Amino acid sequence: MFDNLQDKLNKAIRTLKGSGKITDVNVASTVKEIRRALTDADVNFKVAKDITDQIREEAIGQKIMIAVEPGQMLVKIVHDKLTELMGGQAESVNLKGSPAIVLIAGLQGSGKTTFTGKLAHNIKKQGRQVIVAACDIYRPAAIAQLQTLGEQIGVEVYAEPDNKNAVEIARNAVEYAKKNSKNVVIIDTAGRLAIDEAMMQEVENVKKAIEPTETLFVVDSMTGQDAVNTAKTFNDRLNFDGVVLTKLDGDSRGGAALSIRQVVSKPIKYMSTGEKMEDLDIFYPDRMASRILG
Ligand code: GDP
Repeated sequence: MFDNLQDKLNKAIRTLKGSGKITDVNVASTVKEIRRALTDADVNFKVAKDITDQIREEAIGQKIMIAVEPGQMLVKIVHDKLTELMGGQAESVNLKGSPAIVLIAGLQGSGKTTFTGKLAHNIKKQGRQVIVAACDIYRPAAIAQLQTLGEQIGVEVYAEPDNKNAVEIARNAVEYAKKNSKNVVIIDTAGRLAIDEAMMQEVENVKKAIEPTETLFVVDSMTGQDAVNTAKTFNDRLNFDGVVLTKLDGDSRGGAALSIRQVVSKPIKYMSTGEKMEDLDIFYPDRMASRILG
């Protein structure tokens, strides 16, 4: 799994002179390889630099056994560091409260509606009463998409197709959930193709009105460096609780996970690896570290 970087590190280390200890001087070429591996996996350059600086600190003074795969040892140091930086343990969504309210936010096309369906399906399988609410008032197709998903997974969809006030719909959905003894209501909001002040204001208003138990920000892992900027803007406005990284079935290396975690300091909670309702996956930092290292 680590062959690529490991081989490169082995080569870099073999050229080390002296005691076989990592020193300030000889660590430079290995650190450069590590940094390149991270940026190749789409990790933001500044984040890659910060991380390799930390790794350098930790590696200096350690004995590396030239004879037995020193690259492997360094890769393990890097792997453990990445895992730690991405949160160590997998974290899931907080569903306390009656009903628990989960707000889903993100750009259009990031996979919000698909994720809303998957999360609802997953919660339903746990034996809880869940409804989803369609608060995208701009695209009639968004309501239809959620309704199709709802039918597929057997989950009720709360919608008000003629209401153009997202805050009201969200509030009414929560009221409806209370009256009908639902345990969880998931609110799917409207997105735009790019950051847009009106959209940010709307989703901020929705959040204030319903005081969700959990706000999740959904982001497409294929958008590379842009994912970090989008995450930062949404976090500044919404102070979200966790991130959902989508489209990891594609060939993105997952560097966005590390960059976002570092820049906004919020856990990545789920990853999405396909369009099927069964594909919801908890985010495991150690697996993502392996993916990033390639
Ligand atoms: P929204 O605009 O944020 O609600 O995004 P959608 O949920 O409508 O998703 C946009 C497109 O991406 C749709 O064609 C989805 O089927 C697709 N999609 C969503 N999540 C994934 C994923 O994890 N993997 C893949 N391959 N496609 C996805």
